[in-house]
Amino acid sequence: MFAKQDITKVQEWINTSKNIVITAHKSPDGDSIGSSLALYHFLKNIGVESTICHPDKMPYFIEWMNGTKDILTLDKDEAIVKEKLASADLIFCLDYNTPFRIGKMTEHLVNSTAKKVMIDHHQEPDTEFVDVLFSDPKNSSTCQMIYEFIEELDMLEHIDDNVAAPMYCGIMTDTGSFRFPSTTAKTHDIVGKLIQNGLNTAKVHENTFDTNSLSKLKLNGYAISEKLVIMPNQKVAYISLSNQELKDLNYTKGDTEGLVNRALGINGIRMAAFFKEDEGYVKISFRGKGDNYVNILAKENFEGGGHVYAAGGKFDGKLEDAITKYVTVVEKYVK
Ligand code: 5GP
Ligand code: MN
Repeated sequence: MFAKQDITKVQEWINTSKNIVITAHKSPDGDSIGSSLALYHFLKNIGVESTICHPDKMPYFIEWMNGTKDILTLDKDEAIVKEKLASADLIFCLDYNTPFRIGKMTEHLVNSTAKKVMIDHHQEPDTEFVDVLFSDPKNSSTCQMIYEFIEELDMLEHIDDNVAAPMYCGIMTDTGSFRFPSTTAKTHDIVGKLIQNGLNTAKVHENTFDTNSLSKLKLNGYAISEKLVIMPNQKVAYISLSNQELKDLNYTKGDTEGLVNRALGINGIRMAAFFKEDEGYVKISFRGKGDNYVNILAKENFEGGGHVYAAGGKFDGKLEDAITKYVTVVEKYVK
C-alpha cells in the first residue's frame, strides 16, 4: 500500500512545498477531523506548516481536540479557502476517495495545480485527480493509515499527544470503539504504542462520547420511541427525522451521530438506515452486518457509497419519497 518510491516522493514534496493544504470530506467525522489534525500536528512537529481546509463545520463532539480552531471551512472562510487551494503546491486528500466527497470544494481542488496525495480507506478510489495514492480499503481508518504513513517515513518519534489524541479518536470512532470487523491486531498494536507513549485513551473517549447535550439525548429518545420502523420481514429497521422535527428538538450538528447504529443493534436486524431531511434533499446513513453490504445499495440507489457496513448517500426530493424508495429496493440487498 505504501510503495517505497511514493513515500520518497511525498517526503520530498513535504520538504520542498511552501503551501501545504490538508483536506477531508464533507460532513466531518472523528476520522476526517482526527486524520487532518494528526497530520497537521505531525507536520508542525517536524517544522512544516500546513493549513487544514474542510468543506463544512465539524460536529461539536470533536471540537475538544487541539487545533480544531485552526481549521478553515469553505462555508465560513470562503475567500481564504479558495486562495489556499489555488496557491497550494501540495494537497493531502484524507478520508475520501473521490473529489465529489468534498462538496463545493471539489472544483477548487480539481483546478488546483498542486501535487495531490490521497490517504484513504474507502473502496474504489478515483485515481485520476491524484499524483500519489495511498489506498487501503481494509484499513480500520484513515487515522490508522496516518500512523502507518508516519511509520513509513521513519518518524514515529514525532508523534506527541497533539498527534496521538486525534489519531486515536479517528480509530476509535471509525471502528465503533474497536468492535467492527475492520479492527485488526495491527489496530490494537498501534493503539498500544500510542498508550505506551503516554496517550490517555480514557480522556479521549470521555471527551468524545460523554459530552452529550440534553437535547441530543431527547432527540435520540424521540427518534427511537416514535420514529423507528421495523420492516415486516423483521430484518430491516429505519428511522427518519423531518426538518420540522429537527427544529422542534433543537437539533445541532452531531446530535444524530450513532442513531442508525441503535437501529442496527436490534436483535435480528441485518440492515438499517437513518433519513435526515435537509434543505431540498434527504441525507441518508446506511448500516449493515454479516453478508449485508450497504455500500452497493447506497451507490446503486442514492448517489452515495462508503464502506461495506457503513455507507451514506442522498435523495433529491421529499423525505417520504426517499423512504419509499428505500423500502422498495432494500429487499434486493438484504440476505
Ligand atoms: P455516515 O452514515 O456516518 O455519515 O457515513 C458512513 C460512511 O459512508 C462514511 O465512511 C462516509 O465517508 C460514507 N458516506 C457518507 N455519505 C456519503 C455519500 O454521500 N457518498 C459517499 N460516497 N460516501 C458517503
Ligand atoms: Mn474514515
